[in-house]
Amino acid sequence: MIQSAVAVQPVVRPKILPVYVGVLIAFHALVPLAFVPYFFTWWGIPILLIGNAVFGSIGINLGYHRLLTHRSLQVPGWLEKIFVVCGICSLEGPPLKWVATHRMHHQTSDEEGDPHSPVDHFYWGHMGWIYTEDKRFKGFGPYEKYVPDLLTDRFMRWLHKKNRWAKIYLAHLAAILVGAFVIGWAVTGELEDAVQITAQAFAWGIVVRTVYVWHITWLVNSASHRWGYRNYETSDRSRNNWVVAALTNGEGWHNNHHAAPRSAAHGHRWWEIDLTYTFIRMLEVVGLAKQVVPIKVAGYKSKDAEKAA
Ligand SMILES: [Zn+2]
Ligand SMILES: [Zn+2]
Repeated sequence: MIQSAVAVQPVVRPKILPVYVGVLIAFHALVPLAFVPYFFTWWGIPILLIGNAVFGSIGINLGYHRLLTHRSLQVPGWLEKIFVVCGICSLEGPPLKWVATHRMHHQTSDEEGDPHSPVDHFYWGHMGWIYTEDKRFKGFGPYEKYVPDLLTDRFMRWLHKKNRWAKIYLAHLAAILVGAFVIGWAVTGELEDAVQITAQAFAWGIVVRTVYVWHITWLVNSASHRWGYRNYETSDRSRNNWVVAALTNGEGWHNNHHAAPRSAAHGHRWWEIDLTYTFIRMLEVVGLAKQVVPIKVAGYKSKDAEKAA
């Protein structure tokens, strides 16, 4: 028998994380429930928008992203904890892992090592990477490398240990259900109506809101690295995408963000509306935000500057 001189390498398939897949499938499968008459309510729309503002914009954009990852501003410790807990209630993982992943993304954007570049496959950058094991996160190495500042924070370590962050998500879920039941009973005086209002709060305030905030956050990683215009010739494929910016209250001005990652404002032109930054300015006016980092675009050529030259 003739043996091949070249050793055949086994195909290495990425390891799928069953818990992540289970949670993603369960939430997505429950979304149609919100449109079944018993669960449907027009109140669902304002609940969704308010939920996105609190848990998506304040929790993820402001808390996880601009505050923890980029230190674009400083707020009192108690307020930082509130923002971080709002972020946890979006079920996007513990802050240490979210921040480490995002710092990796900035370091290696659209190149080898980027945890979620959508350049080859939109789906991978959007959600494929979420439930696929990233071997770099075995052990504490990546945390020591990418988030040494957060490791010195007792609250961050406490949240990470024993999956306490996930227990906080479950506690907020229970609080929404109990709150909806109590308010429903107080307003209607009927047990049946209170139960229906609780069911509607579950469908819109938890399921639809969580899935909605997931997808608009993921669109920043996927759509804003493929479609849109560029103000700056950054080395990555980041784009300013107005649809993503409108959905996420400002995070879609992603080319601006890659050009000036530490800047608190992601909208750089007057019409690039960034409501998350508007909220930061309001915090600054009332004295709750300090050292808000201004727009500093060093090393990148602005397209406007190119035209003027
Ligand atoms: Zn990016
Ligand atoms: Zn960033």
